[in-house]
Amino acid sequence: MPSPQDPRALEALQRVFGHAAFRGAQAAIVEHVAAGNDALVLMPTGGGKSLCYQLPALLREGVAIVVSPLIALMQDQVEALRQLGVNAAFLNSTLDAAAAQAIERQLLAGDLDLLYVAPERLLTPRFLSLLERAPLALFAIDEAHCVSQWGHDFRREYRELTILHERWPQVPRIALTATADPPTQREIAERLQLEDARRFVSSFDRANIRYTVVEKENAKRQLLEFLKAHTGEAGIVYCLSRRKVEETAQFLAGHGIDAVPYHAGMDAELRAANQRRFLRAEGVVVVATIAFGMGIDKPDVRFVAHVDLPKSIEGYYQETGRAGRDGEPADAWMCYGLGDLVLLRQMIEQSESGDERKRLEHRKLDALVGYCESMRCRRRVLLANFGEDYVPAEGEGCGNCDNCLQPPQAWDATEAAQKALSCVYRSGQRFGAAHVIDILRGSDSEKVRQFGHDRLSTHGVGTDLDARTWRGVFRQLVAHGLLEVDAEGYGGLRLTAASRAVLKGEQRVLLRRISARRERERSVRGA
Ligand code: ADP
Ligand code: ZN
Repeated sequence: MPSPQDPRALEALQRVFGHAAFRGAQAAIVEHVAAGNDALVLMPTGGGKSLCYQLPALLREGVAIVVSPLIALMQDQVEALRQLGVNAAFLNSTLDAAAAQAIERQLLAGDLDLLYVAPERLLTPRFLSLLERAPLALFAIDEAHCVSQWGHDFRREYRELTILHERWPQVPRIALTATADPPTQREIAERLQLEDARRFVSSFDRANIRYTVVEKENAKRQLLEFLKAHTGEAGIVYCLSRRKVEETAQFLAGHGIDAVPYHAGMDAELRAANQRRFLRAEGVVVVATIAFGMGIDKPDVRFVAHVDLPKSIEGYYQETGRAGRDGEPADAWMCYGLGDLVLLRQMIEQSESGDERKRLEHRKLDALVGYCESMRCRRRVLLANFGEDYVPAEGEGCGNCDNCLQPPQAWDATEAAQKALSCVYRSGQRFGAAHVIDILRGSDSEKVRQFGHDRLSTHGVGTDLDARTWRGVFRQLVAHGLLEVDAEGYGGLRLTAASRAVLKGEQRVLLRRISARRERERSVRGA
């Protein structure tokens, strides 16, 4: 129902927030919510979600209650709003009793435009009874995907937020998220009783982000090489483990890069100081586990680098979405190898989760690996995961991902695959790729001799390809389900039901090869 924009909304946008115009669906959302209707808003990170409830909060009588899972995020937002002259406050565990009471008094007196509150606080009988006595403008439920058990940020309390609708059916609700694969969308609507809310789904394309995936050789050196294009710029480097975070931060610092670590195991004060420096100083690189970044609003992050494989496409999209919020060019770069895949499979298999959850996590990992190995436009693959049918221009592609800029080539790897599979089989289906490659390449290492693998018929049949090419072959065979990882044990490779057809010569295998141009660039750099 596109109607003429509420002049009061535009006026407040300019006067209070200092923005000249609404972006994308903001105008429609603001008008819809300000008129007292429910909304479910799916917008990519950096799309401008906050405004969708902050502005209606100002246009409607009473206070807007904003449910937010992250204390750091609340504080930043409230601080920013106060600077704009908006009466905003937060209630969470960082406040002492006197400060909390002062805010409660303001709430009851109708002196607040927005009140941010953590879900567990909101749900206390004490807070709910306060709300009974306060004039309410709307409820905003930020990071609404936290209601999804299958998402990566599940918060139990989010499930109970339906109480808001039950107790205050006349108060409009707006739920917002940047995670939006269709099943999560449905789950949000259902769990929050927002089936009848109007949905505002923005395109999740981040046109200014350039997506690149490279094969892992020596991750630290590759990272350093990548960073040469970002000298003096702010960015985030994600690693899987705390130890790797520390190592990588030290390595970068040793090469003159202003890099600081961030992970949950650090001293809290130092961690907060590192985050502050990243936010306020120029050109700081944060090396972090995935714990870092949710709700971080730093517009000029110029790159997000993953030196380890993330766990899912949703996670990857969210993490990379922290780059380039200002709309200027930014890089999303990932370095990935078979070792990552083996490690993540083992982590899933050896976790405490139930079987259903494990299966789901394996599937999510499959989808991510599919993204990494894809020869198609990266954007297209990413967005397809959110149910969006992005069609890049014929012949040119999106113009901003590695596969479109330098299309990879397929090569017929049937013979190599047969050698690889049969070598896995003959060596007993319990070794990792490195050892099997040693056998194929005819190594007479201690380990090869120890197991008598120098006497296998496949010993030395793979000297025609170099070790790096073989690593690519094994990685892709695993990615395509022609080999699998023994994730319950030591991560050895074994055949799958699908291997047979290849071994019998009934199925050809086409694998990805990086383009001749990238190959040339690599050899120039390596020289
Ligand atoms: P999200 O929560 O969706 O990640 P934010 O609400 O933090 O995004 O907004 C991202 C950035 O865009 C912020 O710096 C914000 O000030 C800016 N922004 C939002 N709406 C507008 C607008 N209409 N015009 C200009 N800048 C905007
Ligand atoms: Zn592309």
